[in-house]
Amino acid sequence: MKHRIVIVGAGFAGLTVAHGLRGVDCDITVIDQRNHHLFQPLLYQVATSMLATSDIAWPIRSLLRDRKDVTTLLGKVDGVDRDAREVILPHGIRVPYDSLVIATGVRHAYFGKDHWEENAPGLKTLEDATTVRRRLLLAFERAEMSEDEAERDAQLTFAVIGAGPTGVELVGIIAELAHRILPGEFRRSDTRRAKVMLIEAGPRILPAFGEKLSAYASNALTRRGVEVKTGTPVTECTSDGIVLGDAFLPARTVIWAAGVQASPAKDWLHAKADHAGRVIVNDDLTLPGDPSIFVLGDTAHVESDGQLVPGVAPAAKQQGRHAARTIRARLTGAKPPGRFRYRNMGNLATVGRNAAVIEYGRFQMKGLLAWWVWGIAHIYFLIGARSRLFVSLNWLWSFLSRQNSARLITQKENKPSSGQSKEADGVARRDRS
Ligand SMILES: Cc1cc2nc3c(=O)[nH]c(=O)nc-3n(C[C@H](O)[C@H](O)[C@H](O)COP(=O)(O)OP(=O)(O)OC[C@H]3O[C@@H](n4cnc5c(N)ncnc54)[C@H](O)[C@@H]3O)c2cc1C
Repeated sequence: MKHRIVIVGAGFAGLTVAHGLRGVDCDITVIDQRNHHLFQPLLYQVATSMLATSDIAWPIRSLLRDRKDVTTLLGKVDGVDRDAREVILPHGIRVPYDSLVIATGVRHAYFGKDHWEENAPGLKTLEDATTVRRRLLLAFERAEMSEDEAERDAQLTFAVIGAGPTGVELVGIIAELAHRILPGEFRRSDTRRAKVMLIEAGPRILPAFGEKLSAYASNALTRRGVEVKTGTPVTECTSDGIVLGDAFLPARTVIWAAGVQASPAKDWLHAKADHAGRVIVNDDLTLPGDPSIFVLGDTAHVESDGQLVPGVAPAAKQQGRHAARTIRARLTGAKPPGRFRYRNMGNLATVGRNAAVIEYGRFQMKGLLAWWVWGIAHIYFLIGARSRLFVSLNWLWSFLSRQNSARLITQKENKPSSGQSKEADGVARRDRS
């Protein structure tokens, strides 16, 4: 019987393992709870209606269609039976393995306030992105419908909690949408009055970047009409707004970009984990005491040169390549690569439509040129010629015309809101699809 490799999670790490095992004589099963591989770095562009969902996600089955050695299963893994060497899926389905790769990423963390999620969705999946897009666009519609000034102001207040790259990228585009793109399309409300707020508990935005770039980004956002509030923890989050210190801020659209927690892999494996739930692995990415199991990407805690490897796409891909090389070496009798070493590819974030910050070691870049570099890098990493072409054309069109091409309200909005008018509710109902 051929060696059976089960890969749980077809994100950056899991898919890279499957690609890295091409030509090895083994049977590979890829299991994911979704039918698509998602390019998360551009999720915020779907959430802000710059790109369509199909521009940044591809069916896993079609990505692996030419690989006769790979079987793809759609299912949510519930656990791992390490004694029997089986992965557990719902309805008693079990998939046996000789080598197991767990690369199940992260989910949102609300620091013990899980009930905030309904009012402040995060951005992790395509469903999250379309929820955020719907709420953003509905808020403008409801402001246009409302005859009450306080309610209109609350509808036109957008609060993003957390000032890492995702938070910064979101407010940049929301401000652009409200202040520049939409004003000509609304008659009863003035979308230029929209308040776009970036709220951060820590002392500065983009803490992973140097202080100069962080200050540049903060100024660039302020120039674009974003209110940046640092050192301001959110203490409550309701369907009508948020509490900052002692003050209540009426805001009907709140987006969470403040924290993540690893997938429950540590519970499946009964493994040691760090404070964020990441499984602590050996320096070759295997589980301590069980070399047949690899844990990779965002769900793994691994250090390289004394530093925790960050939860970014290049790190997940590098880990995927390393695990594939190790498994290949084991199966062919070659020398395994040993210790994993992370090659830092730098930090990138956009600040609105035509500015970005880039940091690579001591090298720093900012402004329009950095934005072009950011754009080219992201186009390069998209899968398939079709996506690259469509995304490039969409960006070019939106850059030249100041239009967002995917401004569609889809599906019913369930979030309760005290100020929501009956007519505005009708907008949501009519747009259900
Ligand atoms: C909004 C956002 C923006 C980002 N921007 C950037 C950026 O600009 N640059 C950058 O480098 N990184 C960025 N990242 C981080 C980057 O996307 C992650 O580091 C990377 O996706 C990690 O890859 P992974 O393979 O570990 O996990 P993921 O890519 O998250 O893949 C995990 C896979 O596991 C599947 N899965 C999870 N649980 C189960 C289960 N129980 N059963 C079956 N399948 C399961 C999921 O469906 C998913 O397909 C961003 C992330 C987000 C959310």
